[in-house]
Amino acid sequence: MADKRDYYEVLGVDKSADDAALKKAFRQLAKKYHPDVNPGDAEAEKKFKEIQEAYAVLSDPDKRRQYDQFGHAAFEGGGMGGGGFDFSGMDMGDIFGDIFGDFFGGGRRSADNGPRRGANLRASIRITFEESIFGCEKELEIVLKDECSTCHATGAKPGTSPETCSKCGGKGKVMYSQQSLFGMVQNVQTCPECHGSGKIVREKCPDCHGSGYIASKKRIKVTVPPGIDNGQSIRIRDKGEPGTNGGPRGDLLVEVNVSRHPIFQRQDMNIYSTAPISYAQAALGGEVRISTVDGDVLYEVKPGTQTDTRIRLKGKGVPSLRNKSVRGDHYVTLVVQVPTGLNEEAKEALRKFDAATDNSLKVDKTGAEKPKKKSFKEKIKESFEDFS
Ligand SMILES: [Zn+2]
Ligand SMILES: [Zn+2]
Repeated sequence: MADKRDYYEVLGVDKSADDAALKKAFRQLAKKYHPDVNPGDAEAEKKFKEIQEAYAVLSDPDKRRQYDQFGHAAFEGGGMGGGGFDFSGMDMGDIFGDIFGDFFGGGRRSADNGPRRGANLRASIRITFEESIFGCEKELEIVLKDECSTCHATGAKPGTSPETCSKCGGKGKVMYSQQSLFGMVQNVQTCPECHGSGKIVREKCPDCHGSGYIASKKRIKVTVPPGIDNGQSIRIRDKGEPGTNGGPRGDLLVEVNVSRHPIFQRQDMNIYSTAPISYAQAALGGEVRISTVDGDVLYEVKPGTQTDTRIRLKGKGVPSLRNKSVRGDHYVTLVVQVPTGLNEEAKEALRKFDAATDNSLKVDKTGAEKPKKKSFKEKIKESFEDFS
């Protein structure tokens, strides 16, 4: 993985390339390096796989966002990575149907009946905002298929055994020739008789009805890493569909849905919120209590703090998926509260306060112009603070 090329470089597009540009670049490269055009050329096949992988990631908005943020690391890591996903097990059918359907006649190559890895399964869990910040353990109930112990996945009734398919001679696939843009091409199709298994079961196993597998509910423990974001997936190895012909199981990909928080909002690694402060606190300064994901903190507000002043609480944001001791920041917008429901004593104090400052309550009946005050917007600009 170390010398993996940048996906944008692989496709020869720049980072701002839109869907159409990506598709065009992929189409051109795929035509050039497609194995059907370069039979037996290992280098071309390697290139073809590389561009396939690059396109699979960049053409998916979620994966592209993860790749832009974390690079190749976004799709690595044993079960804990940020939204890991697997290329070997992924279905390229959509891309091929889309790109090659018109000139390859839609004929997809399929693997022979050797060991095949099982398909990946998908599931989702919902967690709270706090759980997404600090990580958690969840249990998930899924239906998993296991080898039938009666027939050992052959699907044949005990005492009988599957016969070799006569249509494909046990290969599980049949070849046929087809005219294409590049002349005659040999296409491979899954055997319609045995559906690729190479074997025909005459008498079915009574326990699994010939499928070779038995499904049962299983409880799976999911370890959610600190810092996971809404929509990212966790990979759990070997909890997918069983492989065939001795192949390994696929993986389980668990998508994480994070519930909204009443106060906090997240953007990448930072948290945003607003906090009320009283008029007196804003004018005189002093300590105010501010909620963070780590609990309340006391923050010293400067005298003369205007409403909408934004402050930064360093290191109170979201932990990095790679290293939980590295954290983003928490930005808090202070909102000055205008007092309501004043009693007579408070009203009188406020009148006295006004007389001692602007004297704004006295209506000027002479029509003389008062000195022009700064606009609200100008004040906001001046008061913007960023405690870096
Ligand atoms: Zn069975
Ligand atoms: Zn067959």
